[in-house]
Amino acid sequence: MSLEFSVDFRVFCRLTFQFYEISNQMTKPIFYATVTELSQKLAKEEITAVDIATALLERARTVDNKVNAFLDLNEEDILAQAKASDARRRDGKRLGTLDGIPVCIKDNISVKGQSLTCASKMLENYVAPYDAHVIELLKKAGAVLFGRVNMDEFAMGSSTETSAFKKTANPWNLKHVPGGSSGGSAAAVASGFCPLSLGSDTGGSIRQPASFCGVVGLKPTYGRVSRYGVAALSSSLDQIGPIGRCAEDVAILLQAIAGEDHRDSSSNPESIPDFSGKLKTPITGLKIGLPKEVFTDNLDPLIKEKIMAAVDYYKSQGCEVKEVSLPHCDLCIPVYYVISMAEGSSNLSPIDGIRYGLRSQRATDAIDVYSKSRGEGFGAEVKRRIMLGTYVLSSGFYDAYYLRAQKVRRLIRDDFAKAFEEVDVIIEPVASTTAMPFGSTGDPLQNYLNDKFTLSVNLAGLPGMSVPCGFDGNRLPIGMQLIGKPFDEATLLQLAAAFEAAHDIKTHYPEL
Ligand code: GLN
Repeated sequence: MSLEFSVDFRVFCRLTFQFYEISNQMTKPIFYATVTELSQKLAKEEITAVDIATALLERARTVDNKVNAFLDLNEEDILAQAKASDARRRDGKRLGTLDGIPVCIKDNISVKGQSLTCASKMLENYVAPYDAHVIELLKKAGAVLFGRVNMDEFAMGSSTETSAFKKTANPWNLKHVPGGSSGGSAAAVASGFCPLSLGSDTGGSIRQPASFCGVVGLKPTYGRVSRYGVAALSSSLDQIGPIGRCAEDVAILLQAIAGEDHRDSSSNPESIPDFSGKLKTPITGLKIGLPKEVFTDNLDPLIKEKIMAAVDYYKSQGCEVKEVSLPHCDLCIPVYYVISMAEGSSNLSPIDGIRYGLRSQRATDAIDVYSKSRGEGFGAEVKRRIMLGTYVLSSGFYDAYYLRAQKVRRLIRDDFAKAFEEVDVIIEPVASTTAMPFGSTGDPLQNYLNDKFTLSVNLAGLPGMSVPCGFDGNRLPIGMQLIGKPFDEATLLQLAAAFEAAHDIKTHYPEL
């Protein structure tokens, strides 16, 4: 009888999936297990990929009505992928750590046969005809593509509020935004809908929502991950990158998606280190730079305090900390917005109601098709950027705006190169505030100004990472930003892992 009960109880656990024993020391809900924990359980046959998918689907079913991270969640397809993973494992053909692990996908990354809306009415009925390079790699690794998540329309924004479809909430406080533009990707990971997600970052869209949602987000070096198959916002700035709940999980996903791809001319042949293998390398002797232009009296005192506490921890571990200078960092906002709007307006030009996108039913002639389709299909922020971007590229203004911005971009890049002659990593805040309440982001200029700490990293093409380092008085997460030399994501991950190991931040979860 008691044996039967315990068997029933196991079955019960497997079906309700509220809690699952992850290790001998720790019992936590399966939906907050790390990739390594899940992968080991899979390898030991203690759990199946279908168990994991079922648990996470159940979590999403019960909680996503509050968070609203998903734009599309096809249960049948997810379970079919999980079954295929289990079959491979049974046949001794397991593909590696990610086989059977769910990964949510931002809705601007193409998955063949699935919708690709970029959270825009314009592309509401568009179905991707091919897989992005990163999706090909995830399929080869056996990952379970776990639904498509919300974002700012065409990745333009910092709160996910410009999505044409829904407002995603911050899992830590449902009255606050999750950040953006990869707000759905960060909120899904923080809510326990998936251990990992893919986002894209043009000016902070992985790092800022990761910071707001208390998860880890990494923007790789420009060229580290192929952009083939991501709907382009600004081609010289965009990068796809991983979001997870700890550095180790992020390292695993980066390993899977990094690498050269001839279909993206900016993709780089640089060799790929063993990111996970380097995680535990001692951090003693690493040199950390603090830019004097950032750590001024204008910085929010609490954000400064939390970041300096992390810096003190690094010092206590034998890191050397010194001041560096980034003299042109004040110019990042105008330079970024000129370049990203110019490239964005040009990238969106084929979405005109004729080649791609919604076609207005009210149009009477060809010109009308363009203007009414674009007028009805795009939201206010996208229209604003198309107009400004077209303006700065127009004859007579190109030299004054776009060309000049490119020249200043060079100075920003040179500032970093000089600073990295002296240090290995630069530490800054990710954002000047914690997550804002809904409805407080109506002023576009103020929104652009709030991006001041993330933009330079994209302009200089560097890797940047957001790592949770504390909470504010309302229990909203605070992130610190680690910025590295080109192609040195490994050192960022190593510093993040060391910080996590000594602090219990990654074991805090939102109450949902
Ligand atoms: N918030 C920035 C913008 O609105 C960054 C967006 C992004 O990285 N996709 O452009």
